[in-house]
Amino acid sequence: MADGIDALSKLTRLSREEVIEAWEKVKANRAILDACPGPHVFKAIDKRTERCDVCGGEINTINAQWYRTGLDHGAVNRKHDGGADRDVSSL
Ligand SMILES: [Zn+2]
Repeated sequence: MADGIDALSKLTRLSREEVIEAWEKVKANRAILDACPGPHVFKAIDKRTERCDVCGGEINTINAQWYRTGLDHGAVNRKHDGGADRDVSSL
């Protein structure tokens, strides 16, 4: 019976076992990132990947840059409104 793993296997030309192994690595990395006390401190380990010095979790450089931008914007918001959460309900 074909399933999502078979579809990914065909698409990526990886074996079912390799697809499952890759998915397990993704889930383990997600758990590491989620358990980080934060904030993450991402540093490049290659051209496309950054690793957090605090938790060891890894993300791609684009997501790391957005994470840093979010931290910067959060810091500006805290400075401007004294720490109150901005009302985003109308967005
Ligand atoms: Zn971290």
